Amino acid sequence: MGETGSASAACGHPYDGRVSELAGWTHVYSGKVRDLYVPEGAEGLADTAAVLVVASDRVSAFDHVLEPGIPGKGELLTTLSLWWFDRLHGIPNHLIPDHALDGDRVVERIPAEVAGRAMLVKPLDMFPVECVVRGYLTGSGWAEYQRTQSVCGVPLPAGLTDGDRLPEPIYTPAWKAPMGEHDENISFERTVELVGSEVAEELRRLSLEIYARGAEIAEEHGVIIADTKFEFGADRATGEITLADEVLTSDSSRYWDARVFATAATPAARMASFDKQIVRDWLSANWDKTGTPPELPAEVVERTAARYRELLERLTGA
Ligand code: ATP
Ligand code: MG
Repeated sequence: MGETGSASAACGHPYDGRVSELAGWTHVYSGKVRDLYVPEGAEGLADTAAVLVVASDRVSAFDHVLEPGIPGKGELLTTLSLWWFDRLHGIPNHLIPDHALDGDRVVERIPAEVAGRAMLVKPLDMFPVECVVRGYLTGSGWAEYQRTQSVCGVPLPAGLTDGDRLPEPIYTPAWKAPMGEHDENISFERTVELVGSEVAEELRRLSLEIYARGAEIAEEHGVIIADTKFEFGADRATGEITLADEVLTSDSSRYWDARVFATAATPAARMASFDKQIVRDWLSANWDKTGTPPELPAEVVERTAARYRELLERLTGA
């Protein structure tokens, strides 16, 4: 079994999330990065009023979980998500206020081993759509643009290059593939088929609004949010469309240094990133994307951790 929590992160070992148990909680699901727990006694996500979402230090790229993790990453992601939730007044989110819920019954407090990396949230009926917004053209959007001059059916002007700012932010959803499969870019029309037109339109509206608000705040701190991904679900009691998962973190977003973007000598050098692009770039150069990915060198791990920390400092001043 793995080591636990902040103590191990503090001495430089990544928290891989493979803790045998958290007192009072039952493990029900592990995504690539986060582990979900329900209060002891609950059967699963379907019959609980509270879920503990624990962000591990695992890092994924190209839909593979890599070794080793990035020490401290889970806490950084959780801190950043909480910071952003706080700034997005008026957008319903899945956090349980004061980490307590369920009428008069106060659920277990967050266990000490995962304090700092855990959030207590309402379980939602998640929509199978990754709500991607791009203010800049890069990554899979750039790849698609080169073939079709559009991204997810959104037509774009000719002559754009990798990293260019788009005339306006675009909504380019992806289908959230089950664990082990690859997420897939889809058209807006396809999201209508998946969730109905009313929800599809609301997901687009909310995503564009959150991106615009986030990008403006980020720019005040000298960073660009090139693109990002949101996940939403329906509140089980009210049906309200609710922002879930992590928000505007360096895992779910591409963050660039605004000053470097404005002054770099080459288009590629503009995209000095505060996210796992370092990991993606290293993997692209050192792996043919078949079989098991190679282990990340210590230097890549440390550089990634440092950039994650720098982003948090820039945004939150912490
Ligand atoms: P990635 O984000 O890298 O694609 P992943 O989506 O497989 O990875 P994680 O982010 O590691 O998964 O795990 C979080 C899981 O919890 C996701 O499946 C996400 O949809 C789900 N989730 C997040 N918030 C809620 C919520 N409030 N209710 C129910 N499920 C949630
Ligand atoms: Mg996720």
